[in-house]
Amino acid sequence: MSVVRVAVPIAAESTFDYWVPDSVAAPVGTVVRLRLGRRRCVGVVVAGVPGATRDDGTAIRPIDDVVDVPPIPPDVLALARFIAAYYRVSPGLALALAVPPVGAGRGRAATAPMADRIVLSDDGRRALAALAPRAAASRDLRDRLERAGAGGITCAGLSDADRRRVSAWWRSGWLAEARADFPAPHLPNDAQRAAIEAIDAAAGRYAPLVLQGVTGSGKTDVYAQAAGRAIERGGQVLLLVPEINLTPQLTARFAAALPGRRIVTLHSALADGERRANWIAAARGEAALVVGTRLAVFAPLPRLALVLVDEEHDASYKQQDGVRYNARDAAIWRARERDVPVVLGSATPSLETIEHGRRGRYARLVLPRRADERARPPAVRLVPPDDPQARDGVCGPLWAAIEARLGRGEQSLVFVNRRGYAPSLKCAACGWQAGCPRCAARLVLHREPARLRCHHCGHAERVAPACPDCGNVDLAARGHGTQRLEAALAASYPSARIARIDRDTTRTRGAFDELRRRVAADAVDILVGTQMLAKGHDFPRLTLVGVLGADNALYSADFRATERLAALLFQVAGRAGRAALPGEVIVQTAFASHPVCAALVADDYDTLAGRLLDERRLAQLPPYAHLALLTAEAPAREDVDAFLGDAHRAALGAQAPGGGVTVHDPVPSLLARRADQERGQLVVQSVRRADLAAFLDIWLPALRERPHRRVRWAIDVDPATL
Ligand code: ADP
Ligand code: ZN
Ligand code: ZN
Repeated sequence: MSVVRVAVPIAAESTFDYWVPDSVAAPVGTVVRLRLGRRRCVGVVVAGVPGATRDDGTAIRPIDDVVDVPPIPPDVLALARFIAAYYRVSPGLALALAVPPVGAGRGRAATAPMADRIVLSDDGRRALAALAPRAAASRDLRDRLERAGAGGITCAGLSDADRRRVSAWWRSGWLAEARADFPAPHLPNDAQRAAIEAIDAAAGRYAPLVLQGVTGSGKTDVYAQAAGRAIERGGQVLLLVPEINLTPQLTARFAAALPGRRIVTLHSALADGERRANWIAAARGEAALVVGTRLAVFAPLPRLALVLVDEEHDASYKQQDGVRYNARDAAIWRARERDVPVVLGSATPSLETIEHGRRGRYARLVLPRRADERARPPAVRLVPPDDPQARDGVCGPLWAAIEARLGRGEQSLVFVNRRGYAPSLKCAACGWQAGCPRCAARLVLHREPARLRCHHCGHAERVAPACPDCGNVDLAARGHGTQRLEAALAASYPSARIARIDRDTTRTRGAFDELRRRVAADAVDILVGTQMLAKGHDFPRLTLVGVLGADNALYSADFRATERLAALLFQVAGRAGRAALPGEVIVQTAFASHPVCAALVADDYDTLAGRLLDERRLAQLPPYAHLALLTAEAPAREDVDAFLGDAHRAALGAQAPGGGVTVHDPVPSLLARRADQERGQLVVQSVRRADLAAFLDIWLPALRERPHRRVRWAIDVDPATL
């Protein structure tokens, strides 16, 4: 019997000693099930405790069992330790991100086939031809498979019931893995070839490379070919993507470019069994390419040779709760640890990344033009939102442009960054607005069913027939969400095929992919959607992009709002005119002279980025300073204030020798109350990262000692928003 130290996923002290019988091997990295008090959980062996025996401490308990997965490798353990130290969380919580889903109880068997896309096999087509009329759900799944043809459907997108059906059909041999439905990759153009060569030449050493390519410049082909070369030499490649919705499409493109190579995906929407199987394939070196979201940065990859981060500027790489890590930064750290190149791809690199480039820390690879030779940059027009022809939130020129597309059989995309029918419901007589009873926020009006919904806490209520304050029955929907826009377009063009893509229409699994396929199959004339539509989708017949509500971001108090808006606009604009048909972008804005608008018209992100960097330098904001954000919440405002007041005093006293940290006053959070919790925050700022780290070393332990039992607080290092 021996004693091991195990890290468990809890916030406080997170390592404990357990004993394991001699018959069981539990080296460092082993995933074990154990009991923590009464709670069952999964932990990771982080050290042996030599010399200790069971008799040393009567409190030492045995583990329950060893989970049958490969041990977490040393570099992933090191990554978790780095994240724990850098983002100021317990090692156990950080390490939990690296553990595949194993279930704290019994291990769950895989329930779906280990294929990303499935098609009906010939047997399946015969066997399922005569389904009973009652078997409506089975018939529906079969019909979907029939319709999808050789491209198949994704397993990731299935409901639990369909997943069970698929498992059974798979076992019966009625399904097969789809061949990738994407054409083989293009011959790279000169810019692409130069980028591929540069990535290739960096093999075998740490080299951060920024791949800055305008939308449509063929970054994906560069990733695929660079990956292909690394794999040919026997390496494994990690590709991080910001969104789950992008993984099926990307995976299919890579499958076409890397025939015969095993590609697996890792993201939170996979069924546990599938994610675990993919994780094991990575750990055993069987998977040549791992495509995944944030958490894939922890994938075990014994022969890791190249790390690719697509859309590196994307805010979704930063986790917003729990362990608030940035997966892009973690990927860079891991590449350095493993001595491999890391490619940061984007049309609009983050200001942090650009600044690293300026200082010569990152090399820059540029794809200046769209890869499809027929494609031209879209013509961008800025138009005021209200003109005499404007109705339903859409200005006259945009109506005319949509109509022209309908006449030519081309597609339009109207982008509005608000889901629901209208952002608020207001009394025309007294000015009352429907507000959330639990949050300091307005309720959003939804239709079908008609409800007022809070987008912060999920609260929903019926729409009152009259104003609760004055009894007036004239309540007006204010502003325009995706539903309202869809309705207005449908009323104007009854025969147009309109698809709405937002979180409400894509809630069920697979819905997004289905909609995407409909657009690609030319079965949609007008797309209405939120930012879900901005990224990485390639629709050749889409020639018009309209943008509504962009000005909202210009009013934002967040210091990154302008940078984000720029990235979003460049990305949305990039959806128009990807192939032979020329594209047009119409942005409704009252601020046509704003630098973001000017940059979009001039198709010049770099000049804008330079300007924004100058502003950041003057304001002493990232990347010229480093921030940490202390957030606190409690049911009562005075508890939040008392805690933050205390924290503020402690911060003033926590200056390390030499100081260098600015402590700002506590303020209410932008959303001052959420789900019945009052919220407040305090920012600390330093020009030197080391000063901030030394400060946090003193400050955080002091905070932990203070008895503020009703207050929940957290520290966010390098916060994405303030
Ligand atoms: P990005 O990711 O940079 O926005 P994509 O990789 O999606 O761009 O490529 C945009 C389009 O250009 C795709 O349809 C792709 O197939 C095509 N493409 C990529 N490389 C080439 C090339 N060398 N020649 C012609 N077309 C290309
Ligand atoms: Zn009223
Ligand atoms: Zn709410």
